[in-house]
Amino acid sequence: MQAFHYQALPIDVHFGVGHLQKIQEILRPYAYQRILIITTAGQQAAGERLLAQIQDMAVAVYPHAVMHVPKEVADQAIQDVQRLGVDCCLALGGGSAIGLAKAIALETHLPIIAIPTTYAGSEMTAVYGITENQLKTTGKAAQVLPKVVIYDPELTLNLPTEISACSGMNAMAHAVEALYAQDKNPIVSLMALEAITQLAQALPEIVQAPHNMQAREHALYGAWLAGVCLGSVGMAIHHKICHSLGGRYQLPHAQTHAIVLAYSVYYNRHADIAAMNQLAAALNVSDREQLGLAIYQLNQRLNIPMALKDLGLPETAPAQVARIICDSPYYNPHEYDYAELEALLTKAYWGQAPL
Ligand code: NAD
Repeated sequence: MQAFHYQALPIDVHFGVGHLQKIQEILRPYAYQRILIITTAGQQAAGERLLAQIQDMAVAVYPHAVMHVPKEVADQAIQDVQRLGVDCCLALGGGSAIGLAKAIALETHLPIIAIPTTYAGSEMTAVYGITENQLKTTGKAAQVLPKVVIYDPELTLNLPTEISACSGMNAMAHAVEALYAQDKNPIVSLMALEAITQLAQALPEIVQAPHNMQAREHALYGAWLAGVCLGSVGMAIHHKICHSLGGRYQLPHAQTHAIVLAYSVYYNRHADIAAMNQLAAALNVSDREQLGLAIYQLNQRLNIPMALKDLGLPETAPAQVARIICDSPYYNPHEYDYAELEALLTKAYWGQAPL
């Protein structure tokens, strides 16, 4: 057995249907008195309901979170938390709300409570991102790791099926890459395999019946495990491709992850054979060669857009992105090959099956 290093994340995690109703009990030991509830504009009403529920410990709803944390939004929020005398930021929403809370914590060291309502997984990582002049800079800092995370599957019941499907595949991508990460370890691999199994089963059920509570529970459970994977081990080619596409072309985060995963897995099909065999077993695929195709077909069942061109990517992008990736690669178990990558990204651009 290979030697490994594993460090557990110090996050207080509470998971269960209806858990939002227990929030006062969960937060009592922390004695926060001036919590700011951060949401996107779309989730403001949910934020107001939460404010009414915890009015003795919260000051206001801050509905200004947007995707990719623009620096001017973060700067304004930092001024506002200081003006309001906030003692804790509570992010209610997906990666955008949590991302804004992290940008605030980075400067102010205020603690974060996260109540995730998508499957993106940011709540389990110490990774932050801030966008300035169309460039997203990411980094890791201990102070942005949430102190408390409350997962309540009820909050995901109204997440539209299109977002649920893409966000769920975004979570699956975190787990898939954890299997062949440079610093992979047996505990995180166990979590990754369980995450993949749970998501692969629950997501089609959610697309069929968005209010299926059991499927919502399993998807959120899988998303939590996938978030732990992302927060615990390094990323590889899949995240590099998505970060390059998102940074250079502002493609939507979850949809990009969902489309690209089939191609990243295809690219790596002959690398880290042990990990690929584990992935094949988790997805019930008999031939490792077919793994990319299996994920592509899962996306089809989930009614996910199948081509990067449908997300607004220009036709010249595959060549440019292949160059960006080869010039500043992340670790990957299979070497980076410009021609192979360009050909693969061209397939992803047109939405052709990864064969
Ligand atoms: P998001 O937070 O932007 O949410 C997508 C949309 O869904 C938004 O319009 C939001 O208002 C809406 N929404 C969220 N929950 C809802 C619900 N329950 N019901 C109805 N609508 C709901 O998208 P996301 O994919 O969760 O997050 C993407 C962002 O998170 C990106 O900026 C990405 O870079 C970041 N991210 C960061 C990390 C990290 O570790 N730092 C990890 C994953 C994602």
